[in-house]
Amino acid sequence: MHELGIMESAVDAALREARAHQASRIHRMVLRIGTLSGVEPDSLRFAFDVVTEGTAAAGAQLEVESVPARAWCAACAQEFGVESGFIYVCPHCGRLSGEVRQGHEMELSRLEMS
Ligand SMILES: [Zn+2]
Repeated sequence: MHELGIMESAVDAALREARAHQASRIHRMVLRIGTLSGVEPDSLRFAFDVVTEGTAAAGAQLEVESVPARAWCAACAQEFGVESGFIYVCPHCGRLSGEVRQGHEMELSRLEMS
């Protein structure tokens, strides 16, 4: 499962961070996940339980923030929201844009520990 690997690296990063701050428990983790990343939030939650078992992050609250996909139209100099797929058409001028500004995020955005 794709999500398991993603969660392993996120939890690894969180545990390293906790050690660096001499924290013994992680209470809450917030991940930012782009809608184009292909990651299932439900699978992520399942992976979280598996990966955190027996670690300082066991029983922590996981929050998944969905980041909507946005592409950039150079002709209009503005961003527009996109759903999915690989070709994005600007709703203002109809030109194609290959420049996705956000939507591929997979990052740890907040961490609460003590
Ligand atoms: Zn445009």
